[in-house]
Amino acid sequence: MLGLDEPGPFTVVNPSGRSSFLLTCDHASNFMPRDFRCLGLDETELSRHIGYDIGIAEVTRGLAQRLDAPAVLSGFSRLVVDPNRRPEARSSIPEVSDHTPVPGNRDIQPAEREARLATFFRPYHNTIARMIASRRAMGVAPALLMMHSFTPSLDGVPRPWEVSCLSDRDRRLADSLIEALSGKGLNVGDNVPYSGTSAVDYGLHAHGEAAGLACTVVEIRQDLIDTHHGAEAWADTLFSVLRELAQDDALFEAREELPWPDLSEALLV
Ligand SMILES: [Zn+2]
Repeated sequence: MLGLDEPGPFTVVNPSGRSSFLLTCDHASNFMPRDFRCLGLDETELSRHIGYDIGIAEVTRGLAQRLDAPAVLSGFSRLVVDPNRRPEARSSIPEVSDHTPVPGNRDIQPAEREARLATFFRPYHNTIARMIASRRAMGVAPALLMMHSFTPSLDGVPRPWEVSCLSDRDRRLADSLIEALSGKGLNVGDNVPYSGTSAVDYGLHAHGEAAGLACTVVEIRQDLIDTHHGAEAWADTLFSVLRELAQDDALFEAREELPWPDLSEALLV
């Protein structure tokens, strides 16, 4: 599925960073391996938000550097297999994305699904798990920042928030960040335009709550970070608040391990 000359399924930035924050970026890349023949889509579709989270890779790299934190970025388009969907969920390999049918994802057979998970999804997530395990072995319970971006409007409905924090049951990090970013005069959302309570979401539940770690999804509006200048400015803003939060010991202790939320039958493959 992946040619020898093609990029691997993940990139680790600053692997031995000394911060107790750990960054992940599920939708960093819109890379589509040759083998997939663009899933039958026009190539221009890949540069839209359905292919990846516009702007967020640059913010993540900039923030990792400023915090001296490790970051793990995915290296493939979410249309191949979505790193932030539980593999048993139907939306893991989307047949339609924002009203665009994805022909190459129609009627996926179990062997094909398994091959995509084995080639892309698991190597990326296993790397995150290893980074967390190596920090735990050093006595550090990292706080997880899962970096994403959202399109400024969907179905004609504008989204006013500049940034939002998604969380489920462990709200430590989300509450602290929402308060700190609001204090900077920003329009900050809480579990909008998506919700961390969605049972199909993978990262928060797999790496954060199941391990008792503080965790939040940080969503930034794409029109604010789709230029180099914008991405750098947001890395600065997030750094200025996270530098303060780094002093809060409550964010860096492992608490009760929370079970996966139930996934309704309707959402399963
Ligand atoms: Zn995303």
